Amino acid sequence: MPEPASEIHARAIAAAESDGHLPASSFSTWDVFPWTVVDGAVRPKVLEAPGTEAPRNGDPGGTPCHTCAGVPPERIVWEDEDWILTREEKPTGLPMVVVLHSREHMDAGDFDDDQASTFGRICNRLVRIIQGLDHIGRVHVNRWGDGSSHFHVWFFARPAGFEQIKGSYAVEWDDILPPGDEETLRADLHVVATKLANWGGHARA
Ligand SMILES: [Zn+2]
Repeated sequence: MPEPASEIHARAIAAAESDGHLPASSFSTWDVFPWTVVDGAVRPKVLEAPGTEAPRNGDPGGTPCHTCAGVPPERIVWEDEDWILTREEKPTGLPMVVVLHSREHMDAGDFDDDQASTFGRICNRLVRIIQGLDHIGRVHVNRWGDGSSHFHVWFFARPAGFEQIKGSYAVEWDDILPPGDEETLRADLHVVATKLANWGGHARA
């Protein structure tokens, strides 16, 4: 089962510097990171002039679609003929992060009613299953699609018991918190995969 909040907290304190702060995560160096420090105060970056957006992975003119090129089998948690649920390569800061992809190369908004219906049912089941694990506070379902054009939706399970780790900031804490252990994650993914397979498809985790 996922770690209780007290264990996550102890791991974070152990990984922190002597002043209690964890190191800044990699996304603080990304171009899209909106904050900077000016004279010791946190301020939004200056908004740059608009321009042409670069093609996404899988877009015409972009790099070839990573998903269509094949998902590594060790990353597949569950799959059926139309959908693939994957995990991240390594354990994450949050207790569980999984991504649901359409098997076919399509974008959000391209589904027919049957595909949209199936997608909604899988989402509903996944949220219920993951939130049913011990020590999970809530599952946040996120679709951005600014990096890859191949449809994918993120499920971020945040731990219960932290007022700071709420809303969209849970995604930032996912990169800030030291990751959990692989054995715990595998066991939890196995539970999620086998429960989801009760409605069809194949558990792979
Ligand atoms: Zn694709």
